[in-house]
Amino acid sequence: MIEQLLRTNILELTAYSSARSEFTGAAGIFLDANENAFGSAAGTPCNRYPDPLQKELKLSIAKLKGIAAGKIFLGNGSDEPIDLLMRAFCVPGKDNIIQLSPTYGMYEVAARINDIAVKNVPLTQDFQLDVNAILSAADACTKIIFICSPNNPTGNLVADEDIRSLLDRFNGLLVVDEAYIDYVPSGSSASLPLLEQYERLVVLQTFSKAWGLAALRLGMAFASECIIGILNKIKSPYNINTATQRTVQAALKHAGKVQSWADLTRKERNRVRASLSVFPFVEKVYPSDANFLLVKMKDADEVYEYLLRKGIVVRNRSRVPQCENCLRITIGTEAENQALLAALSEFNDMKNKIER
Ligand SMILES: *Cc1c(COP(=O)(O)O)cnc(C)c1O
Repeated sequence: MIEQLLRTNILELTAYSSARSEFTGAAGIFLDANENAFGSAAGTPCNRYPDPLQKELKLSIAKLKGIAAGKIFLGNGSDEPIDLLMRAFCVPGKDNIIQLSPTYGMYEVAARINDIAVKNVPLTQDFQLDVNAILSAADACTKIIFICSPNNPTGNLVADEDIRSLLDRFNGLLVVDEAYIDYVPSGSSASLPLLEQYERLVVLQTFSKAWGLAALRLGMAFASECIIGILNKIKSPYNINTATQRTVQAALKHAGKVQSWADLTRKERNRVRASLSVFPFVEKVYPSDANFLLVKMKDADEVYEYLLRKGIVVRNRSRVPQCENCLRITIGTEAENQALLAALSEFNDMKNKIER
C-alpha cells in the first residue's frame, strides 16, 4: 500500500550501513569507525559517533506520548522529516503536494528545492479546511497533503473531523504538523491516536516551541512502522548528535515545567489579545490555540516599523494572501508583553495627536 506511493529508486535503494549500526552488542574495544580513541578536543567527550537510531531517547518519548517506539522518527528539526517525506514519495518534475494557505513556509520551500509542484488550496474564511476543494485539487500525482494544526500563521486548530474525512477520501500521505500542540489545553493531539487506524498518516511535533529547545534542533515524526522504516532508510546516518540526544533525554524529566509555561503563555495570550482589541488601529485579533496572535491592523507596515524603532521585532505577514495587513506576534514574558503594549499605546497617542 505505502510501497505503491513510494518512488521506485527509494523502494530499490540499499541504505548506507554505518559502523555503529552494523554492530550493536556490548563490546569494550571499538576499532570499527575510525574514531579518535584517545579522547575529544572538547570538555565533554564526543569522540564516538552517536546512536544512529536514537533508541534510548525514542523509548523515553514513546513513554511520554503513549506510542510505540517503532512509530517514531527523530529529525534535525521538523524540517528534516518534511524534506525526507518529499524526497521519498515525490518524483521531481512530476509529482505534487497540496498545502493549505496561508500556512508554514517550509512545505513550499522544501517542495521547490526538490522540484516538486505545489498546489495551493486556500483555507476558508475562518481558516478551516475546504475538504471538497482539497479533494478536487488532488490528482494522480498528488502524493502528500500538508495540514498545520494549530496553523501557523493563523493560530487556530483545524477541525478533527475534516482531518479524518481527508484520511478516508485521499489515497496519498496526510501530514499533520502539530508544532504548537503543547499549547492546546488538553495537551494531547487528536491526530496521534489515528495512527492506529491509518497507515498513511504522519504527525509532526517538535521540541523547538513549548519545550524551549529550538537551538538543539529536534523534531519528531510519528507514523506507521512502514513509513518510519522508509525515513530511516534515507536519512543521513548520524542525523541527531549526541549532545542533542543527551540534553533532550534530560529535558523529558521536566514535562511539568513545559505545562506550566504553556499555562502561563495561554494566560498572557488572553491578556494581550484583550488589550490589543481596544486599540483603534487594530481591526481584528484572531482567536489562537498557539503561542502567538495574528493581528489585522489598519496599516500593518506602519505599526511594524514603529515597533522596530522601539526595538521590538514581530513578524510582518501583510504580504501573505488572506493575511493582508496582518502581523504575527509571539507571546513573550509578562515584561516583554507589557513593553509591546506600552509601545503600541504610545503609537496610539501619536496617531491621536496627528489626527487632532
Ligand atoms: C516552528 C515550526 C516548526 C518547527 O520546526 P523545527 O524545524 O522543528 O524547529 C514546524 N512547523 C511549524 C508550522 C512551525 O511553526
